[in-house]
Amino acid sequence: MEFGSPWQQMDASKRGVLLRKLADLLERDKLYLCSLESLDSGKVFMPLYAFESGFVADMYRYFAGWTDKIQGRTIPIEGAYFCYTRHEPVGVCGQIIPWNFPMAMFAMKVAPAVACGNTVVVKPAEQATLSSLYMGKLAIEAGFPPGVINVVPGFGQTAGAALSSHPNVNKVSFTGSTQVGQAIMGARAKIKFKNEKPLGRLGGKSHFFFFGKRRKGNFQIFGPVQSIMKFKDMEEIVARANDTKYGLAGAIFTEDIDTAMTFTSRVKAGTVWVNCYLPMSPAAPFGGFKMVLLLGRELGEYCLQAYTEIKTVVMKTSVKL
Ligand code: NAD
Repeated sequence: MEFGSPWQQMDASKRGVLLRKLADLLERDKLYLCSLESLDSGKVFMPLYAFESGFVADMYRYFAGWTDKIQGRTIPIEGAYFCYTRHEPVGVCGQIIPWNFPMAMFAMKVAPAVACGNTVVVKPAEQATLSSLYMGKLAIEAGFPPGVINVVPGFGQTAGAALSSHPNVNKVSFTGSTQVGQAIMGARAKIKFKNEKPLGRLGGKSHFFFFGKRRKGNFQIFGPVQSIMKFKDMEEIVARANDTKYGLAGAIFTEDIDTAMTFTSRVKAGTVWVNCYLPMSPAAPFGGFKMVLLLGRELGEYCLQAYTEIKTVVMKTSVKL
């Protein structure tokens, strides 16, 4: 991002206007986009059209609201100095996404990075590329300056590896398998950004516990069929839930508040749902413990930390202010 470029010079609030416009265009073309996603990735059309696309538009609008609220602090240091911090964009962000939620992952990686004033190069999964390319087209129509939102399709070993090992990419955010996440960590460590901590989420397995009683009766199975294991008490389920290298999310169903509070505090997972499963919001951070996490959280205010650098400015003053 060049100093003096249209993107660098743009008012922060205008970035919000562009992100909102992108959400409006997505809604305008929702039928086309969801059809494309369904044909390309094999995802079922109705959940995409009825739920996922709304969540995706909400992500652009949520981060649009942050653009002019990313602020530093004034810090009272000793002596005749004026000290303040600026939260500056990190620069070029390489965003590598998996095949299972292409439209949602695109928004999750693009909206916060762009809200903070970065530029992005998105590498969609080779199995599901078309919705990302279409979002790139809508970004141009929304009015993002050329070079701000870039989509580079290709295979992982070539396009993905080139992006994650490029020295001019300042930040990599990745969601996908543990093996590829480890390869990306290795690639980042070899280049000059030794201190960079990539953001991302890796493969995760989530647990799901039911307390509250066995229901009697005959039930028809629609499938898929879930394997179910019995447990005796809280000690056993906490031990089982934590006996994994992953820790993305977990859930418990119970009518007892003590059971719910004990479980939520003891389980090592990035999100714990109580009496529900999977509600997500652009405002609520999402990420995992242990091997799921590379660094930081996606979504919510916490996510902005990953896409900004903090600069401290100390200015000598003639009098003590
Ligand atoms: P994957 O790791 O095979 O691929 C993900 C992306 O990485 C693709 O774009 C791929 O082209 C790219 N890639 C592959 N090799 C690369 C390399 N050497 N360098 C750079 N990029 C490379 O994963 P996938 O099969 O597309 O997605 C499924 C995986 O994602 C599962 O393991 C799933 O658990 C995980 N996932 C995790 C979360 C989470 O929240 N933790 C969410 C969605 C998916």
